[in-house]
Amino acid sequence: MNNKVEKIPLTEEAKNSILYVSDKPDIIMEKGKGMYLWDTTGKKYLDFIAGWAVNSLGHCPEVIIKALEYQSKTLINSSPAFYNKPMINFSKLLINNSCFDRVFFSTSGAEANESAIKLAKKYGTKYLNGAFEIITTTNSFHGRTLATMAATGKPNWKNLYKPYYPGFSHVAFNDIKAIKNKINKNTCAIMLEPIQGEGGINLGNLEYFKEIRKLCTDNGILLILDEIQTGIGRTGKLFAYNHFDIEPDIMTIAKGIGGGFPLSAMLTKNKLNIFNKGDQGGTYTGQPLAMSVGYAVLNRVIEEKLWLNAEIQGKYIIENLNKLKDNGKIKSVRGMGLLIGIVLNKENGDQIVNSCLKNGLIVNSPKSNMLRLMPSLTVEKNHINNMIDIIKEII
Ligand SMILES: *Cc1c(COP(=O)(O)O)cnc(C)c1O
Repeated sequence: MNNKVEKIPLTEEAKNSILYVSDKPDIIMEKGKGMYLWDTTGKKYLDFIAGWAVNSLGHCPEVIIKALEYQSKTLINSSPAFYNKPMINFSKLLINNSCFDRVFFSTSGAEANESAIKLAKKYGTKYLNGAFEIITTTNSFHGRTLATMAATGKPNWKNLYKPYYPGFSHVAFNDIKAIKNKINKNTCAIMLEPIQGEGGINLGNLEYFKEIRKLCTDNGILLILDEIQTGIGRTGKLFAYNHFDIEPDIMTIAKGIGGGFPLSAMLTKNKLNIFNKGDQGGTYTGQPLAMSVGYAVLNRVIEEKLWLNAEIQGKYIIENLNKLKDNGKIKSVRGMGLLIGIVLNKENGDQIVNSCLKNGLIVNSPKSNMLRLMPSLTVEKNHINNMIDIIKEII
């Protein structure tokens, strides 16, 4: 085997073969291991975005390689018409480690949220005289299908892709009064992120979530938690709802659960096992490769209690970033576990992201005055020290 990294030039022709949706640097990523990525010139990057809070075990972890190797030699695809072994093992593991009884698998986060929205509407039709409205929050992010874009609280998305998908209303996050005032006879559910990730690391407060739970129970409506970014150990607990000491009726997960493989799930309770035959489905629901990877990732996270490392390293990051705050180099830091936002003194997030990249560090800027860190759950102190040195240097 030839282990030499082949240098592939990024030609204009190659660039022009990709439909434009966002700006990308002139870099072709070639391989990854643990906390690091390498591009085709051999340059090494310390990765603090981890595929967008996705590679929970780092790049190319042995457990995923083994799961894919075994499963791809055993059964790549059977069909959504049958059960398969990894599907059963994985759903049991999810059920045994959460407050839920039932799982529906899909491929992306937006799809899992679509399932949750459908289930809430089904519930409204069946039990609430046809109630169909779902209350979400401003600054929320729930995905990029047409319905989940409408669920998302980005005002400038209202004028994209008209007509706008109906049935969602938005209120301020962490404002219990605003939600109380919004509930009406058409409301079937409230859908929230425990921490608004894309919205700029806005932490949900404990009392708010406790009151929301009670509000939903009292009104007979459903509480949907979108844990696509916060689930699977990221915030210092296996799921963020564990911090609030509440049980949602529906939870969606994606990102971290696949460790890089496209995989998502909607989890719910037995009382919401109310879809009729054909109401919901999908060619790749329970796809064996995805199931075996999901099982392997979750099993490793649980075995090693990786949420504890997320908590410890998260605290270490915040502690050290606070020193930069004391020096006046940054405005503030907020976050939980390994989902951390740095508020900058200036609106130069994109500029800092680019400088970091040049210096071999990958971070993200969800807002112009903010950097976001979301490394793999296996990050260690030496990576953190390197990351902080680079950021300190640049700022
Ligand atoms: C990323 C994300 C989604 C969308 O997930 P995709 O896999 O991109 O469809 C939805 N909700 C939250 C909270 C997310 O962070």
